[in-house]
Amino acid sequence: MLTYEGRVYRPPSEARSLIVQATVGCSHNTCSFCGMYKGEAFYVKDQDQLMRELEEEARTYQGYNRAFIADGDALCLSTDRLVALCQKIKVLFPGIRRIGIYATAKDVNRKSLENLKTLKDQGLGMVYMGVETGSRDLLKEIKKDASPEDYLKAGGKLKKAGLKQSLTLITGLAGHKRSLGYTKETAQLISQMNPDYVSYLTLMLGPHAPLTQAYQKGKFTPVSPEEALAEIYLFLDAYTGKGPSVFRSNHASNYLYLGGNLPEDIPDLKDAIRKTIEMENFVGEEYRRL
Ligand code: SF4
Repeated sequence: MLTYEGRVYRPPSEARSLIVQATVGCSHNTCSFCGMYKGEAFYVKDQDQLMRELEEEARTYQGYNRAFIADGDALCLSTDRLVALCQKIKVLFPGIRRIGIYATAKDVNRKSLENLKTLKDQGLGMVYMGVETGSRDLLKEIKKDASPEDYLKAGGKLKKAGLKQSLTLITGLAGHKRSLGYTKETAQLISQMNPDYVSYLTLMLGPHAPLTQAYQKGKFTPVSPEEALAEIYLFLDAYTGKGPSVFRSNHASNYLYLGGNLPEDIPDLKDAIRKTIEMENFVGEEYRRL
């Protein structure tokens, strides 16, 4: 059986995937809004032990059609290690059609195009990257340690390597009255990247995140549900990507679940947001958010 250390996070679309925890934690671990691995030391799991666990799992259950390599930025692993892992997964689980992984822009940019192509050839199919915002200033503020140019470069390399990319954005990162000011830059960056998938989350102040501590000290005021929705509206309004890109805001943190294709569904998506904000009884209950 596969063993897991700590709490393992994966994208919603990997809910039924074989989760292979190759690293524990996040090698970056400085993002101010993220408390997922704060206080936990990052390390790489023993590869031989992981291979043995995969063999055991393969004897137990074969019903997977996707695999996801965790944790927070597992693409930081060496290409050799990832290739060996992908090969093992493919051999042991012939039904697996796609392998996904979380990555930072730095992880992608550190790899050569040849390395990324090799990983694609070995079954890696989807790279999930948290962009969060397209604003240079806000990226610095939230300690993302990446610039809009880093994301553009990473997105371009993934495309050239034939790897699909799923990008995540977060509303409310700059807080009340400020967040909307950064949204046009986000729309510009994502339009240029023209990803396969882009999804919006809404900021949740979880335990251990430095931003939560700032909130507790009165130094950060979260956005209202209306402001969070207005941010997504403004993003869609300013979006100029040629597509096709699948757009989602179906994460449990969101006040309104949206789904469509960019750019053609932008009018309908904006309409749905406008109608929700105008609803008399729209209160954006916090208890609905997980
Ligand atoms: S948001 Fe991602 S890159 Fe940033 S600390 Fe959390 S897991 Fe690491």
